[in-house]
Amino acid sequence: MQIKKAKTQGFCFGVAITLKKAEETVASHESVTTLGHIVHNPQMVASFEEKGLRNAHSVDEVEGGTLFVRAHGLPVEVFEKAAQKGMTIVDATCPMVTKIHVQAEKLRADGYKIVVVGDPNHPEVKGTLSHVPGAWSIQTPEDIDALPRASKVGVVVQSTWSGAGFTEIVQKLSSKYYEVRAVNTICTDTHNRQSEAAQLAKEVEVMVVVGGKTSANTKHLADLAATQGARSYHIEGPEELQPQWFENVRVAGLMSGASTPGWLVDQVEAQMEALSRRAS
Ligand code: SF4
Repeated sequence: MQIKKAKTQGFCFGVAITLKKAEETVASHESVTTLGHIVHNPQMVASFEEKGLRNAHSVDEVEGGTLFVRAHGLPVEVFEKAAQKGMTIVDATCPMVTKIHVQAEKLRADGYKIVVVGDPNHPEVKGTLSHVPGAWSIQTPEDIDALPRASKVGVVVQSTWSGAGFTEIVQKLSSKYYEVRAVNTICTDTHNRQSEAAQLAKEVEVMVVVGGKTSANTKHLADLAATQGARSYHIEGPEELQPQWFENVRVAGLMSGASTPGWLVDQVEAQMEALSRRAS
């Protein structure tokens, strides 16, 4: 079996920066907490826990110490609450996420009613919404039907959203509102991985996508590969690979989400090769 790997593998630059900052922070600060796991990758989470990084659901659960803000960012009010509690804040929000906040604020200052496309329960989107209070949050073209009137709307999108889904939404908004100003804030890394997934899925029979089950960008990649005709599997590690997935398969694809370490992709590749050898 031939294994075709996507060109873009391993951590995106935003996650790489965050992890480097987190390493430095746990080494130099007392009692460091993140709200939510540091990345969508169980192996990395365990390794940081060993180094003393704590995880909490809410800033209300934490007393003092250091709040480490991961790549997704945090809502404005959480920063404020942590500051009121006297916590040290180390902000490792990905620059591409900060750019979304800035774009949304600019559009609002220019008089646009803000529409944020993305999952309202995703931490990044919660952060973006906090920068533009009163913004409308939507996920599908159907959600547009329920939106009220406005003279002009400004649109931003979750950094890891599907490019095709965003285009569809902007087209529908344009048929409802007189003026629509859309800023495509899907980050470059996500865009590249989605393009590669769409292309690679046409060349392979089976696609394996490695990444945390809660990772939005990994899930989108697996879905995208499936819509292009490849049998698609979203796994977190090599132990999940099943021999029957590769029976009579000549070409398989392998790619990863933005928060998957390169060494884990290598382990999955090695296991795919071993399963293929066993089957032949
Ligand atoms: S996926 Fe994009 S926005 Fe998210 S951390 Fe990586 S580079 Fe930043």
